[in-house]
This record gives sequence, C-alpha cells and structure tokens, in this order.
Amino acid sequence: MHTLTDPIGRSFKVLRVSLLDRCNFACTYCVCEEEPQAAPHMSMPRQVILSSDELLDLISRLHQLLQLRTIRLTGGEPLLYPDLPQLIQGIRRLGISDIRMTTNGFLLAKKAAALREAGLRSINVSLDALSERAFLRVTKRAGLQQVLDGITAAQETGLEVKINTVIMAGENDQEILPLLDFAFRHGLKIRFLELMGMGHLFGDTHKQFFSRQAILDRISRIYTIEEQPKPCGDTATYWRTACGHHFGIIANESHPFCTDCNRLRLDGYGNIYGCISSNIPIPLREVRSPQGLANGVQAALQQKQMRFSGSKRSMLTIGG
Ligand code: SAM
Ligand code: SF4
Repeated sequence: MHTLTDPIGRSFKVLRVSLLDRCNFACTYCVCEEEPQAAPHMSMPRQVILSSDELLDLISRLHQLLQLRTIRLTGGEPLLYPDLPQLIQGIRRLGISDIRMTTNGFLLAKKAAALREAGLRSINVSLDALSERAFLRVTKRAGLQQVLDGITAAQETGLEVKINTVIMAGENDQEILPLLDFAFRHGLKIRFLELMGMGHLFGDTHKQFFSRQAILDRISRIYTIEEQPKPCGDTATYWRTACGHHFGIIANESHPFCTDCNRLRLDGYGNIYGCISSNIPIPLREVRSPQGLANGVQAALQQKQMRFSGSKRSMLTIGG
C-alpha cells in the first residue's frame, strides 16, 4: 500500500489523541489563570466530543490509511475520559499494540490495573515537584502524594513508567536534583522539558524559560554525564551518568526536533492536526470516504513545520 508522506518525505506512524480538553489540574504553563479552561477552538462554534465508538471508528480508518505503529492518549487529562479501558481494548483489537498515555497521575492509583489489563503498555506521568509547596504552586492542586501513589501503582502493574517535568526558572528549577534522585532510586526514566510557547505563553516564555543548557549545568554540579545519540523520531535527547543512570531533556525551544517528527494529532472532536504549532483544525468527523480521509490527512501534513514556532492554542486542547 502507498504510504502518505509530507512535503519532505516523512511518514507518520504515531498518532497522539487528545481525548478531551478538560483537566483536574491547572498547571501554570498550560492553563491561563484569567481564563482557566480556554475555549478549544477559539473562534469556532462549540463542538460535541465524539463518543468512544465514533473515535475508535475514526482511529480505525486512519490506521487503514497510515498503518499506525503507536497511539499516545493524552488530553487535557485522559484519566477523566469515561470509557478509557474500553477504548484501549478497541485500539488493541485494531492490531495496534503500542498504546501509551500521558497523564498528570492524579487518578492513576485507582485506574492503573484496569488500564494495564486493557492493553496499555507505557505511561508518562507529569511530575513537576517533590515538595508539596512547589507542586501546589505549579499545578494549583494539592495532590502530590496521590500522584506519587499513582506512579507506584503503575509500576506495580508492570507498566513502563516515565516522568515528565517542565522546568520554569524560579518556580521549580530547585526541584531538578531531588527529582533526578527520586527517578534514579525508583528506576524511572525522567525527562525534563523546556517551557514551550503555547497558549497564554505564546511569545512570552522568556521570563520563566530555563534552557536545556541550564538544566545540564545544574545536573553537572553533582553528576558526570555523557550525551547519548538521539534515536530518529524521539523527542528527548538522553544523557548517561557515570553510575549508569539515564535522564532525558525535551528541548523544543533551544534544540527543536521537528525535522524527524513522525507524529500526527487527533482531538476528541475528530479534528486532525499536522503540528503542535498549528491553530487550524482539519475536521474529519463527517468525512466518510477513504479519499476524503486521505485528503484531510494530506492537508494536515502540509501544516508540518521545520522548526517549532508555538501557538496560541494551549496544550490542554491539543495534547502534549
Ligand atoms: N494532563 C496530562 C499531563 O499533564 O501529563 C496530559 C496532557 S499535558 C498537555 C501533556 C504534557 O504537556 C505534560 O507533560 C505537560 O507538562 C506538557 N506541557 C503542557 N504545557 C506545556 C508548556 N507550555 N511547555 C512545556 N510542556 C507543557
Ligand atoms: Fe492539566 Fe496536563 Fe495541562 Fe497540567 S499540563 S493543566 S495536568 S492538561
């Protein structure tokens, strides 16, 4: 079967599905305090989220077109999605076994076993601080222990667990070394993220920006580290410490990885996007014919960029 490619020949095997644009946290880098749950499509009329059967049908048709390898479920907060285990089972039945999720972990302790049983393979938990005070400052929710319990429960079920930490200068940069130590002690792979200019931070990250180099400088005070070659399509670059631990940095602003991007994005309303920086949803929910679907995906591929530019759309609506 012919593989769809973008203007520079990239093919797309990873679909990130932002299940819903609601969240039980209000992280300062994601949600604007003045306008907490920003309208998902800004100038567009409010849409109704697809049912899980409709979403599965759309994923199935995209899989026929793209021969997807990986689905990453995200949001908003994907653990708020009501039919999550059924959706994961449905995706597995399509023949896609690499199913992953990115979550804030607040509801994970209760749900980890059912998700694992349904076929989830791996989970990224966002954890920006180990001190209750910094955790509350960033997420606006007093839920640190609940997230830590979620991480433990996920590990106990056999899920592969990684930690995502967004670093903001003056907010949680003091947490880098404690979090690194925590990850090493618990056998977790941690990735630090540079702050991205999305949503209310579009064009305005400079005050809180903490660069990849600044993160490395902080870690090098304690550890001897060596950079590892970055596998094609990976968002993170990894370093190895002298005692054999690994950590990663996702540096979309200072070291963009757009050129080997292999991802497409779908939201819970049935819109596809070629790029996290795109503000233009391409609606697929009413598209029935295979040719119409292929045209929609081709239009999304035209949105691909060579360098991350950010957008006024918050990650809450397009998924990180
Ligand atoms: N609610 C889930 C969570 O927080 O993991 C999934 C959705 S969240 C939008 C996905 C990822 O995007 C999280 O790891 C979050 O830290 C990251 N993120 C959100 N806004 C960001 C920003 N402005 N810069 C960098 N990362 C951001
Ligand atoms: Fe919610 Fe995730 Fe955004 Fe935080 S980063 S507000 S947990 S969607």
